[in-house]
Amino acid sequence: MNIVLLGAPGAGKGTQAAKLVEEYELPHISTGDMLRAAVKEGTPLGKKAKSFMDAGDLVPDDVIIGLVTERLQGKDTEKGFILDGFPRTSAQAVALDAELSKLGRPLDAALLIDVDPEVIVNRLTSRRMCKECGYIGTIADETCPKCGGEMYQRDDDNEATVRNRLDVYEKSTAPLIDYYRGCDLLVAIDGDRDPAVVYADVKKSLGL
Ligand SMILES: [Zn+2]
Repeated sequence: MNIVLLGAPGAGKGTQAAKLVEEYELPHISTGDMLRAAVKEGTPLGKKAKSFMDAGDLVPDDVIIGLVTERLQGKDTEKGFILDGFPRTSAQAVALDAELSKLGRPLDAALLIDVDPEVIVNRLTSRRMCKECGYIGTIADETCPKCGGEMYQRDDDNEATVRNRLDVYEKSTAPLIDYYRGCDLLVAIDGDRDPAVVYADVKKSLGL
């Protein structure tokens, strides 16, 4: 099962990916993590990516596609993969499709964990983190339930920042969702429910 994972920051796609990884042993290919690893290891693509990152520029699509293509040669992807963080635009999706078809590994689904932006704003702005152990709780936790540490709100969980991130996501990803719908690959799941219920729906909708 070859899957592209879509969803706004805070929609809970990380939670759903973790469940799929655990149950089906599909590798979770996060392009952000891969970029950081390639830079750290100093691979040829990593060096190329680093030159853009050092200059404060976005890493070009062909470099990221190179990384993904390289990663898909790994034996662990034979059963399938979950691609997270890429593509982010429909142009990238077209380029990815071309590479995947060269590899003979076309996508089976673009899985969208769909949550209303206002629900996400609520979720993220009520999130609190433990200063001591990093536990993530909510505004209802006066102290950390795990270690008793002090809870605080991360800077990027304030409302203005959250709304900005959601706007950026909306602008770049809305056309991508249309693209996958047009390819008949879009599987949209209502993510505003208990994570276990969402997961049951994910499996059913993917025919797993
Ligand atoms: Zn704690």
